Amino acid sequence: MAQHIIILGPQASGKGTQAEMLAHELNHRHISMGEKLREEVASGSKLGQMMKAHMDNGELVPDDLTNKMILRELERSPNGAILDGFPRTIAQAKFLDDHIEIAHVIALTISDKTAVERIGGRRECPKGHNYHTKYNPPKKPGFCDTDGLPLRQRSDDTPATIMKRLALYHEQTEPLIAHYKSKVISINGEPSIPEVHLAVLKALHHRKR
Ligand code: AMP
Repeated sequence: MAQHIIILGPQASGKGTQAEMLAHELNHRHISMGEKLREEVASGSKLGQMMKAHMDNGELVPDDLTNKMILRELERSPNGAILDGFPRTIAQAKFLDDHIEIAHVIALTISDKTAVERIGGRRECPKGHNYHTKYNPPKKPGFCDTDGLPLRQRSDDTPATIMKRLALYHEQTEPLIAHYKSKVISINGEPSIPEVHLAVLKALHHRKR
């Protein structure tokens, strides 16, 4: 049976980066809800325009859209998936409970101060590869290592929006830790990217024994 893992954490906790590394390691599919939504926005569709308004405002997009997207992505994940950015609310977690079994929930923890500091240096390429000017810089400053495309800041990474998104995380997403109880593995997200990755692998290995 496919083994699914959720990665939770506040904005800039390294969720996407760690999810990508773990997916590679376990041969799972990395499902980034934020990435899927940004792809829809970039397609210029009417639905995308509607989503962009919510996202730029630091709000969640409506559940019917994310629920439909997650089911479609899970169908494409026969080996299992690393879920990054879904679920974000108890309602979304209950929806997921009706469809799949979750093996582990990795909860990355960082302070709000670190989140705000890290957000300023976040850069992405139009195809979704992520960098940080200080902690994960591209080889050629300002350009994607993979695509050579110019890097940009996400339109929702503004100081005003980040405070709203962090508040929403504490209010709506953090309660998932109590929802998943014994499945939760808490990992300090403050150290470097390879250190956090190692801590995640060690913790998962420990669980399997
Ligand atoms: P992220 O890249 O994970 O920071 O997500 C960027 C934005 O996409 C969020 O601020 C929300 O507006 C939207 N989003 C991502 N995941 C979800 C979700 N599970 N439910 C609703 N909205 C979401």
